[in-house]
Amino acid sequence: MNPYAGLVDCLRATWLTGKTRPMEYRQGQLEALNRFLEERRSDLLHALNQDMRRVSPHFEGEVAEVAFTRSEVNNALNNLSCWMKDENVSKNLATKLDCAFIRKDPYGVVVIIAPYNYPINLLLVPLVGAIAAGNCVIVKPAELARHTERLLAEALPCYLDPETFAVVTGGSEEVTKLLENQFDYIFFTGSPRVGKIIMTAAAKHLTPLTLELGGKNPCYVDKCCNFQNAANRIVWGKFFNAGQTCIAPDYVICTIETQERLMPCLRQAIREFYGDCPQDSPDFGRLIDDKHFRRLRAFLECGRVAIGGESDECDRYIAPTVLADVKEWEPIMQEEVFGPILPIFTVGDLDEAIHYINRKQRPLVAYAFSCDCKVVNHVLNCTSSGNFSGNDTIIYSTLVSLPFGGIGYSGLGKYHGKFSFDTFTHQRGTLLRCMGLEAINTVRYPPYTEGKLQLLLSLVDVKRKGMCTLL
Ligand code: NAD
Repeated sequence: MNPYAGLVDCLRATWLTGKTRPMEYRQGQLEALNRFLEERRSDLLHALNQDMRRVSPHFEGEVAEVAFTRSEVNNALNNLSCWMKDENVSKNLATKLDCAFIRKDPYGVVVIIAPYNYPINLLLVPLVGAIAAGNCVIVKPAELARHTERLLAEALPCYLDPETFAVVTGGSEEVTKLLENQFDYIFFTGSPRVGKIIMTAAAKHLTPLTLELGGKNPCYVDKCCNFQNAANRIVWGKFFNAGQTCIAPDYVICTIETQERLMPCLRQAIREFYGDCPQDSPDFGRLIDDKHFRRLRAFLECGRVAIGGESDECDRYIAPTVLADVKEWEPIMQEEVFGPILPIFTVGDLDEAIHYINRKQRPLVAYAFSCDCKVVNHVLNCTSSGNFSGNDTIIYSTLVSLPFGGIGYSGLGKYHGKFSFDTFTHQRGTLLRCMGLEAINTVRYPPYTEGKLQLLLSLVDVKRKGMCTLL
């Protein structure tokens, strides 16, 4: 017997009662989520700091987790009635007298699986979309962020309706068992490696899914640049949360001359942000576990250490590090860095940079820095990535109006703001006709004639705009 079968059956039974469908119910659950964020704010920030071994007064946790999630809840509450409305669509002549619309139907029972790096945001932001769309939900927090996981498992059920919502804890074994059950939608955030496992499990039940994955995000820096401003923004995006950010610039790509001009600015930004000894900075985080620490320390053998390079295993600390002159074949250019090491890969010119980016798997986001907007636009036009940002790094993700998600190897689907609602919503194309007026319908019934055919085609065909029908 599957250990989660009973839980999934209970949620499905509630789903079938229609309890989660009314707007008032959804609003009530979203308000409860807001109360959870407000009342348990300090516990959440404390748990986050324990997991990430941060000692700062919560700046990164507040910005990236609590405030970020609160914005999503508020945005959903502000717009829910509008999002839920049936959407009228255009009609052909045959259906002119009828109602044709898209009904925003919940999927049913959905599951959300989160990674460790932003354990609140990446669990609750999808949850906002799932609740707003009217689903029953199981959430599975990241087991690696164990303090946050425990808090979420204990506290969230005190706020949300236990008939429609549940937390499941554990790691790969538990997820494997959980996904043996049939869900109506799976929302997964994590590595491409595990993404493939999740997609395989979803395929067994033909379950639709979203995959929010990782990858190597290129950051092109042009020769025409305000190097200090670029360095500040790159350093902030890269070393926020000690580099454990899926949308962090993974590597800088530029010419060797630009590397030389950028390097002192990167050094200055790191010193200004974290001081001469970043290990003592209250604002610089640590790696989540020993496995990740060792994986990252091995990268320090690549290229040439130009800035940082110190590490302390007992503290799971790796200094904010910049590696110059890395080679394409070195391990750091083969896998996602996901830590506080920024490799710089040099190329001959812009076209070579674009060619390099396009030869690799498509990233979650691509960044380009230049004072010449033609250059930024050229990178935007000639590359493909889940998202794109010119002249800044991770700040774009705070816009609830932008879809957030990958393409190809970096993921499938998108969320944030209304895109989250749409992700957890089945767009149910609907046509409602009246029972009478049968004379109009005879045109499509046998016995067929050439006259009926021409008439029916004229009623249902979509014509090319601007084409003269007489010719
Ligand atoms: P991960 O893939 O190891 O784990 C993610 C989740 O999957 C966890 O809840 C874990 O319990 C579960 N899991 C792990 N192994 C499993 C298995 N064999 N079978 C079933 N479930 C399993 O990811 P992580 O190390 O927690 O997070 C880092 C990765 O997530 C990076 O690749 C990063 O880029 C990516 N990420 C992507 C986004 C995004 O929005 N696209 C956001 C954050 C992180």
